[in-house]
Amino acid sequence: ELVVRDLTWRPFGRRDPILDHLDLDLAPGERVLLAGPSGSGKSTLLRALAGVLTSTDSGELSGSVALGGHPVLDHPTGEVGLLLQDPADAMVAGTVGREVAFGPENAGLAREQIWERVEESLRLVGFPYGIDHEVRALSGGEAQRLALAGVLALRPAVLLLDEPCSMLDPASAATVRDAVAGAVAQSGATLVVVEHQLSHWTDLVDRLVVLDYQGHVVADGPVADVLTAERDRLLELGVWVP
Ligand code: ATP
Ligand code: MG
Repeated sequence: ELVVRDLTWRPFGRRDPILDHLDLDLAPGERVLLAGPSGSGKSTLLRALAGVLTSTDSGELSGSVALGGHPVLDHPTGEVGLLLQDPADAMVAGTVGREVAFGPENAGLAREQIWERVEESLRLVGFPYGIDHEVRALSGGEAQRLALAGVLALRPAVLLLDEPCSMLDPASAATVRDAVAGAVAQSGATLVVVEHQLSHWTDLVDRLVVLDYQGHVVADGPVADVLTAERDRLLELGVWVP
């Protein structure tokens, strides 16, 4: 279980917090769509859930995020997989194969297992090139799918995806959605996905959580219920309601 308690994050030099005394409980295997207007703190919350938002990271952080009773920072590489909103910025390797292998290598997997997973993950996300292709030659959408392959190759217990379909055409977006659906069905991973176009994910997730500009959860519940009961509030916030 992923448990967020009293999580507050305020960037230095800003009066109001981006996340304000936030509490959230995610059961193992739960699939959650995280929505909210641009700037409401969705990416910040995902980073906190992954344990990569720290109190030294250009802001003041308090509260806790724990997975299975332990602070997320204490977990070994690979337990939580985060797909960043701009993954190309964080790419380290020269070739496609090296990029996807990077996470599993850090997690200490055996060489043979790593390359099996690399091939499988690239195939799942519909990546159009082989492992020797140069990363720097990729388009935004290709880099996004490559980064997702890298996250899936880790087989994390918690999968955090920040706008995985934002740069993709409808067909590629559907492939990515199916890859994620397959991965969570197989592994039972907890999924938190952020996407402005909610309709990409409404069929796959159990729950919709909505953030506002004040850093609060303003709606939380089964997707269909929230979309019906909170429709006016979502529209007012500027959330694109299907
Ligand atoms: P989008 O839908 O546009 O991706 P978001 O909901 O993911 O938005 P965040 O990226 O979490 O929003 O940012 C929330 C707010 O926090 C924004 O106002 C942003 O400017 C601010 N912010 C994020 N990171 C930092 C930082 N390192 N320093 C200062 N302010 C930051
Ligand atoms: Mg964001």
